Amino acid sequence: MSESFCSCLAKKIYPSLRWGSEGTKSHKYLPRSTTIDSESDIPLKVVLLGGGIVSMVAALRIKELRPDYEVSVVVKDSFPSFSTGGIPFYLAGNVPGGHTSLAHHTKDEILARGVKLYLETTALSVNKEDKTVLLKDNTDSAEFELPFDKLVIGTGSRPVKPKVPGVDLPNVFFLKTISDMCSVEEHLKTGNPKSAVIVGGGYVGLEVSEALVAKGIQTAVVEKNSHILKTFDEQLGLIVQDKLEAHGVQVVHGKGAKSPVVSIEPNCQHEESKLLVKTAQGAIVQGDMVLVSVGATPNSDMFPGEKTSNGAIVVNKRCETSIPDVYAGGDVVQTHHFVTGKPVYFPNGTVAHKHGRIIAENICGMHVEYVGTILTQTMKLFDMVVTRTGLSQAEALAEGFDAATVQVKENDHNHYIPPYCMLEIRFTAEKTTGKILGIQVLGDCKAEVSKRVDIVAVAIMRGVTVDEFIQMDLSYTPPLSTPWDPVVSAAQAWQRQFVELVN
Ligand SMILES: Cc1cc2nc3c(=O)[nH]c(=O)nc-3n(C[C@H](O)[C@H](O)[C@H](O)COP(=O)(O)OP(=O)(O)OC[C@H]3O[C@@H](n4cnc5c(N)ncnc54)[C@H](O)[C@@H]3O)c2cc1C
Repeated sequence: MSESFCSCLAKKIYPSLRWGSEGTKSHKYLPRSTTIDSESDIPLKVVLLGGGIVSMVAALRIKELRPDYEVSVVVKDSFPSFSTGGIPFYLAGNVPGGHTSLAHHTKDEILARGVKLYLETTALSVNKEDKTVLLKDNTDSAEFELPFDKLVIGTGSRPVKPKVPGVDLPNVFFLKTISDMCSVEEHLKTGNPKSAVIVGGGYVGLEVSEALVAKGIQTAVVEKNSHILKTFDEQLGLIVQDKLEAHGVQVVHGKGAKSPVVSIEPNCQHEESKLLVKTAQGAIVQGDMVLVSVGATPNSDMFPGEKTSNGAIVVNKRCETSIPDVYAGGDVVQTHHFVTGKPVYFPNGTVAHKHGRIIAENICGMHVEYVGTILTQTMKLFDMVVTRTGLSQAEALAEGFDAATVQVKENDHNHYIPPYCMLEIRFTAEKTTGKILGIQVLGDCKAEVSKRVDIVAVAIMRGVTVDEFIQMDLSYTPPLSTPWDPVVSAAQAWQRQFVELVN
């Protein structure tokens, strides 16, 4: 296609460029030693609540920018800076270094960076007038106050606990913290479970199903929707279900019931398993243990400012809360969608890392805004990778986009160098503008599925059109790709189907 034809096509078919984000009015790229505003001349006392991604990323970044600031991190347990994302893989036996190797930074490394740690200490409340936080030492229940100039709330989320009978029974587990992980590990070692029921077919539940299968445990997943992985379209959800079933995982669907499970009961007969999970549709699924993984809810009880109805702290793009000098980020806040601009609750590590850095830089006197999330997500399940970014067809239509989607199969690399893998791709773009809206890809874990989706994530965040994307200068060598990368081929399929060629 000649350049002139291409630009004519673009003018003719994509008249309106109604995309756009204000973007970030952020770094001034001043030398590190340069003070950005006068307030930041004064060394500040910064207190960070929580020892997860937001607080640790922020604390270490503050120390990088302003070593003179007094930085204290308050952590409810003894595991600062641990990788929650590693939990399912630890349980599967894929973390040879033991649970301590899940720490991004050891306690000694954190202390060596000049950050003070209050471990086994729970934040109870924030006094916005006095600028203090009330803390409780978990070892002796003694309460004490800590003053702050700037406060960061990075207390994350906890698993949603459905209000169903039996949810507190022994052998019913939730999985969020390292302590939760250790409880499950202990049960796997000493309880000798032969079967398990996972309530919730989201990515955490599915990753854990693989871990349990690896331990030889007969596993069932109970999902309330008509397909597992509700952030993916049904077409891909069903392929993932086939993969689970091929590995012996039973999948039990609801039909969109409010709660997939009506009760968890002890199995009085105790013939085959210890617990019975009863679903809204009348199914009874047996398991020696139950893992409930049906979503996350913010740990925001200590925060006295503006929150949403689900308890998420309301923040602006700088991660400032409604209380002056109090910042919040990660799972404890409501964030916003990059494309739609609408508020969204997306408890994901990718968001938390960015919030932590942005909070630190704003505290140190910069002006940095979070541009928003496009809900990029990836998971490895057995030998398969399932990845998505942007809006699915259904989500795009619900947001009022004139969206269209193609589903194609593409080789990950040239067929003459076996083994090659087939990628299943759903590619969504807006018909009126040609802007890429989203992509979902499923394929073998050797096929660089998630990095391919990441290319599209960048394209979406830069407002790239299908025409422009097809011309992107991506790499190619026969053992690794095809001359047109599979995601570009999907864009071409979309163009063939939805773009009317004009002279
Ligand atoms: C099993 C699992 C797997 C996951 N896998 C991925 C993945 O692969 N990719 C991804 O992007 N995301 C993943 N996530 C999500 C990701 O872990 C979270 O989004 C992320 O950890 C949120 O970071 P955060 O800093 O907001 O909160 P967290 O990392 O949860 O940290 C919260 C901290 O606050 C502490 N705390 C809580 N209440 C108090 C209190 N009152 N006082 C003091 N301290 C308190 C907690 O002990 C903890 O240290 C996964 C989550 C789970 C549960």
